[in-house]
Amino acid sequence: MTKLVTRYPQRWFCEECSEVHPAPHLTSKRLCGYRTCLNEIAPKQSVCCDLHGLLLARERGRSIQVSPYRSPLVPTGDWFFAERQRLRKARPELAQILRPIADNAASSNNLYYIEVGNLNVPPGWLPALASLGFSANPVALEDSTLSAGWLMQAVDEVAERRACHAWILSEAWFGLSARGLRRWAHERRLLPQCFLPALYFYRLAQPELQQ
Ligand SMILES: [Zn+2]
Ligand SMILES: [Zn+2]
Repeated sequence: MTKLVTRYPQRWFCEECSEVHPAPHLTSKRLCGYRTCLNEIAPKQSVCCDLHGLLLARERGRSIQVSPYRSPLVPTGDWFFAERQRLRKARPELAQILRPIADNAASSNNLYYIEVGNLNVPPGWLPALASLGFSANPVALEDSTLSAGWLMQAVDEVAERRACHAWILSEAWFGLSARGLRRWAHERRLLPQCFLPALYFYRLAQPELQQ
């Protein structure tokens, strides 16, 4: 995560000179900070809408993280933002819904950084998001042959080799907290296909030779 180093630009439309200034002038209305948007904004706002907030944060380099892999099975922040807008779900509300499986991995802040950086949506969240009406690739939700119980063990082994906590890996790689992963294992769930790209990338599993 990056530190907030840049301020958002201020833009004021002055009716006397019919120009946009970077500071209030004679008779000024404050405008949305995004590029040349002409929408007027309230004193506490910096942009006129969520989309301009996202695009501006992106341009200002609010996220320097990049996803380690890309796959059609794993949606990204742009999808998350668009679906969230379509379903009118606020980030804090989603953070609350994902909490039982993700704990702080799905904090409202992390959801923001996923959107700004257009990062991969953690595969562990996809079934929950789909059940809320997010339109996920149906193939991504189909069961693989690998189980959550197997994943729990595999993550434990890697964590032991790296001398770190297993929950750090399962949160970072799959978006599941230790509690969430244990719950899935207890429910004897099979991992959906959207887990495969991360499993291959982090070498927890090998792609099979047949299709
Ligand atoms: Zn002026
Ligand atoms: Zn705007």
